[in-house]
Amino acid sequence: MGVNIEKVFGENVFDDSVMKVRLPKNDFETVKKLMHEGGEITEDLADVVAQAMKEWALEKGATHYTHVFQPYVVSVGAEKHDSFASVPVDGKIENTFTGEELLRGEPDASSFPSGGLRETCSARGYTAWDITSPVYIKEDTLCIPTAFCSYTGESLDTKTPLLKAMHAVSKQGVRLMRLFGNEVTNRIYSYVGPEQEYFLVDREKYLKRPDLIYSGRTLFGAKPPKGQEMDDQYFGSIPPRVKAFMEDLNTKLWKLGITAKTQHCEVAPGQFEIAPIFSISNVALDNNLLVMDLLKKTARAHGMICLLHEKPFDGMNGSGKHNNWSLTTDDGINLFKPGKEPENNKLFQLVLACTMAAVDTHAVLLRLAASNTGNDHRLGANEAPPAIISMYLGDQVGDVVSQIIKNGKAESSISSGEIDFGIKKLPKLEKDPTDRNRTSPFAFTGNRFEFRMVASSNSIGDVNTVLNVMMAEQFEKAVAALEGAEDFDKAVEEYIAKLMKEHARIVFNGNGYSEEWPKEAEKRGLPNCRSIVDAIPTLLDESTVEMYGKFGVLSKEELEARKEILFEQYAGVRNIEALTMVDMANKMIIPAAVKYTKKLADTVLTVKEAGVDATVQTEMLSDVSVRLAEMKKAVKELEDITQKAADIENTQAAAIAYKDEVMPAMAALRKPADELEVIMPKEEWPMPTYGDLVFEI
Ligand code: ADP
Ligand code: MG
Repeated sequence: MGVNIEKVFGENVFDDSVMKVRLPKNDFETVKKLMHEGGEITEDLADVVAQAMKEWALEKGATHYTHVFQPYVVSVGAEKHDSFASVPVDGKIENTFTGEELLRGEPDASSFPSGGLRETCSARGYTAWDITSPVYIKEDTLCIPTAFCSYTGESLDTKTPLLKAMHAVSKQGVRLMRLFGNEVTNRIYSYVGPEQEYFLVDREKYLKRPDLIYSGRTLFGAKPPKGQEMDDQYFGSIPPRVKAFMEDLNTKLWKLGITAKTQHCEVAPGQFEIAPIFSISNVALDNNLLVMDLLKKTARAHGMICLLHEKPFDGMNGSGKHNNWSLTTDDGINLFKPGKEPENNKLFQLVLACTMAAVDTHAVLLRLAASNTGNDHRLGANEAPPAIISMYLGDQVGDVVSQIIKNGKAESSISSGEIDFGIKKLPKLEKDPTDRNRTSPFAFTGNRFEFRMVASSNSIGDVNTVLNVMMAEQFEKAVAALEGAEDFDKAVEEYIAKLMKEHARIVFNGNGYSEEWPKEAEKRGLPNCRSIVDAIPTLLDESTVEMYGKFGVLSKEELEARKEILFEQYAGVRNIEALTMVDMANKMIIPAAVKYTKKLADTVLTVKEAGVDATVQTEMLSDVSVRLAEMKKAVKELEDITQKAADIENTQAAAIAYKDEVMPAMAALRKPADELEVIMPKEEWPMPTYGDLVFEI
């Protein structure tokens, strides 16, 4: 029997209801306000809160506390645990936790990627409590969500820039609201609902695959006879073992105040999805990190391994993270809501025009924020989404935009209508006017945009930083253009039309997976960065540096550092993959094939001795031997090429070498190995196959 969500929800969270009971009334009101609106807490009040937190945590069996932070590009949260133990006096210790300990931490940051920032600053990193994200208990530890920076204040995580971008879009958005005569909006919240895809494999089988262990994806593997072509996985019945895992996971998440809502089987066999209800971006970021952490831990407890890699299996659907994003005012206006008459909703039209301008202007930056090394196998590969950024607006809003582009304004809008099943007993459904084009990387879905490129294992921090800061930039420009206009209505109409015309090329309603689209996109001048390596330099484009600098989100030095880290990361990941392949070829596949050739050779001799024709056996032997020779050669080449790439000092040049030279050498080694898998008997193959891994959980 499942748990009652209502009863367990938030059980392990230090939330309003806990504080209300445990804090003096005035303090409670102050802290609550700070938690919802942000701001600085005094040391005295922090002491009071820390005391209450400690007592609550001890009652719940906690022994330690930790500042949780997320070093840049490391896609799991980092935690250093400290117990509540004080310095012993007369052999006795007490449980202590001070305001100072709640507010600040100083983890040694020297082992996290810094892209050269630390050499110039300090080995120390600093964590500061993000009071707007709730404190919780996980595994007997009081967890405090924090932002992470260096001694001189440079961000070393994805949280800090996100908080800054959220502030920027709020500030500029409020100015925009004022232009429309709204005097009540005080802030704009950016919301995110991330849909998380993942694979599950059996742990025993996983342990027999060094490629999964070291690189999170298979580096060898022939396609099984059945893949996903029957389309019988998506939304299919959930296997019992997975169902038990999901129940366990959901309970843990609910207790942590995470609104696990949707779960289903995904397109590929062994692939699933979980989505919470949307929340404020920084909380969604913290929650998503927790979801990823608990996916892994819970899977283990159920004898499985959760793969968050973007492409664990070649030839099968990869995993992404759909980032559903919207902007809403504190008085409840969703800026992406077209309303009943989008043709007359100037605020919506302006926000939409700003979004078109922002996405078009910073397309490569968006693409980069959604990327990591693993996502290179998804984006732009034959399986979609493509690496080209375009926007899908749906029939209704798309039509409004077309009218504006054509006539300077819109006069009408297509109504959604109803879907009629033609059966009296079934209710009529209102049609979704957004019509949900699944192939678009950036789709308008009625009251939000769904950015579908995001890598499944990535932090959602970067993506939402870009989304929010680019909107801040456009809002600021709009305000500058419209402020003090004599005839506001006319000015805003003209401004909307101007932006929509200038950025019309970013709108694409067709099939993003089709062969024609990249050609059409090229004609339109839309960038198509096939690899993250090609996209990384955009961090130092003038348009990027200027935007981040203007809104105080990231300095040029921080961007430089991020560029370095990303190149290093790419090279590092590919290096591990190449070495793992060499290892598996030498220690597993080649020995297995050699053993098999001996068996075949013995057979050939025996058959011949018996005076029978051994042509077939000889042919089989030759088939294996040819591939064996090919593998031997390819291993040597891969080793040499990888060594050469590893010796390159310049990080960008190294990343390019891994992409252009090591990757093809990896493919050259994989080909004969996969062919061997197909021709060799199952019992001779030294590891579980794709079929074993994905169909049997
Ligand atoms: P689908 O699979 O059809 O794309 P899901 O229901 O799986 O949709 O996920 C949609 C996600 O979008 C959920 O996390 C949901 O809470 C979120 N969402 C809904 N409305 C908004 C909104 N206004 N802003 C941000 N996210 C939203
Ligand atoms: Mg989706």
